[in-house]
Amino acid sequence: MSTFKPKIIAIDGPAGSGKSVISSKLAAVLGWRYVNTGELYRAVAFIAKELGVSEFSQQTLEPVLDEIIDGLYWNCDSNTVWYKNRDLSTHIKGTAAGQDASKVSKLAVVRSRLLDVQRRLALSAQKGAILEGRDIGTVVFPDADLKIFLYASPQVRATRRYHQLKSLSVLDPNITIEQIEQDLKERDEADSKRTIAPMKKAEDCIEVDTSDLNIDEVVSKIISILESKNLFV
Ligand code: C5P
Repeated sequence: MSTFKPKIIAIDGPAGSGKSVISSKLAAVLGWRYVNTGELYRAVAFIAKELGVSEFSQQTLEPVLDEIIDGLYWNCDSNTVWYKNRDLSTHIKGTAAGQDASKVSKLAVVRSRLLDVQRRLALSAQKGAILEGRDIGTVVFPDADLKIFLYASPQVRATRRYHQLKSLSVLDPNITIEQIEQDLKERDEADSKRTIAPMKKAEDCIEVDTSDLNIDEVVSKIISILESKNLFV
């Protein structure tokens, strides 16, 4: 039996800190697997709604969760989340989907099922895996080879999210950057104050402020850290 264990990089941080774009680019450079765990939470909320759940609670989610988890998968070729042969990307990117994800992510029953999904995805990678989310370095992989916590000023994060939603054609035309900033603030507060697996910095993480850095600069910075730790495989 092989004892190979892929290297794991945990990238955590608040919404709009640049996690997705930086993690996916870094994974492409390294040839490692990339997993956007926020999209798994978004997908669970979206499918639950499709299955008729209108209020998210332990009681309402429990009866549909087996069906959701059975049909849900992360497509490692396209870096998108799918449910029963359907790419959910266009349905789960918007602001409302983020708020719904934050609500389901508070529930123990959802977190424990997604914990297995995330660990299996990472540990079946060929070389290494980069997982981004809120609790990767603290709960999903507390023994990750490298833990990065990305952050940026609220204004920078809101502006980035505004342009990202616009480029994906999922921007509500009536929404302003100030409203997006408020939405991110509320979500960060809910994510960091919840009882189970709150968003927080792992004690042994390396913090990177991305406010004044572009994507390539952050990717280069992380690559230098990997080199200095002999993790560049
Ligand atoms: O990263 P993204 O903004 O897409 O995440 C959507 C929501 O999913 C977050 O606001 C958070 O509530 C939840 N989430 C989480 N744990 C993760 C990733 C995301 O609770 N590891």
